[in-house]
Amino acid sequence: GKRIGVVTSGGDSPGMNSVVRAVVRQSIASGCTAFAVYEGYQGLVDGGDMIREMAWEDVRGWTSEGGTLIGTARCMAFMERSGRLTAANNLVEKGIDALIICGGDGSLTGADRFRAEWPSLMDELISSGKRTEDELKPFRHLNIVGLVGSIDNDLSGTDATIGCYSSLQRICQSIDFIDATAFSHQRAFVIEVMGRHCGWLALMAGVSCGADFIMIPENPPSENWEEEMCSIIKKHRQMGKRKTIVIVAEGAHDRKLNKISAVMVKDLLSQKVGLDTRVTTLGHVQRGGPPCAYDRMLATLQGVEAVKAVLDATPETESPVICIVENKIVRKPLLDAIAKTQEVAAHIQNMDFEAAMRGRDAEFEE
Ligand code: ADP
Repeated sequence: GKRIGVVTSGGDSPGMNSVVRAVVRQSIASGCTAFAVYEGYQGLVDGGDMIREMAWEDVRGWTSEGGTLIGTARCMAFMERSGRLTAANNLVEKGIDALIICGGDGSLTGADRFRAEWPSLMDELISSGKRTEDELKPFRHLNIVGLVGSIDNDLSGTDATIGCYSSLQRICQSIDFIDATAFSHQRAFVIEVMGRHCGWLALMAGVSCGADFIMIPENPPSENWEEEMCSIIKKHRQMGKRKTIVIVAEGAHDRKLNKISAVMVKDLLSQKVGLDTRVTTLGHVQRGGPPCAYDRMLATLQGVEAVKAVLDATPETESPVICIVENKIVRKPLLDAIAKTQEVAAHIQNMDFEAAMRGRDAEFEE
């Protein structure tokens, strides 16, 4: 059987433990050996005890745990070829020739880069005298399978990333708590939510909680958004609303890419609408806590599919990323998904917001 490593990398997201559990158990069930790489790519570079064989019972109960129990990191060494050479040697040491990576687009880009240069890394291990040609015969090819772990739901090509629905749930709960006190005092709250360059969490939280106004990077408010927002909120108040909720995505900006901050919005609501306004930045509570049922299910089904993809792979196979499209677990070319994700970011930078919105919906058009 194959020897398969599983890594969680980049920002943690709820559901990563369900991924590790599913990969470990599906590997074992398929007659393979499973390894957990601790602390993201740092564990690959450090090797030794950071790459550990996992038994069936080692992942017992992991599906309901938040964060990632095998750790994650941002690893500078892996950005350099020399770090990846050390990582390759450590994998050879453990006899591992397949890696399943759960992370964001950065982590998945790094993974595919590692796969692409693997043959040349093997050559270098031989030419530097670290390994012999015979030793490396079984390692001529590295299999990579990606899983998207991110609270931001920012990867093109998949309807949901592992963790986004847990985070959305947490945001909605938090807004429910804030609603109660806002109502009591007739206050306004400006709530900043995560999402980096992606407005999905802010948009869906706005829909789910009935926010008065939202700001997302893909579809910035109109040129005269200050007046527009204030007049909408005044109207809501005149209709008898006792509370005001404005949701600002952390990446929010106006149509000229000037940042819109929660504090700017608060000042407007205080000064122009005369509301007693507070800012709440939800911060890392959005990442914590146990994954919701959807993320456990998604992570488990995709973890199983990732192992199957490893077993199906040939040296010619492009690295796949496991997606969910219209409720079906599917494999897509990893590089395609990353390229489309980067296109959306470029559209935003070029202020082509219509194209950015279309890019986010690409999976529905296919
Ligand atoms: P995310 O995976 O959440 O997008 P990062 O962009 O921080 O998070 O990437 C996580 C890690 O993946 C980085 O710290 C680095 O070790 C690795 N990585 C990211 N981009 C590359 C790259 N272009 N080449 C090699 N490794 C990369």
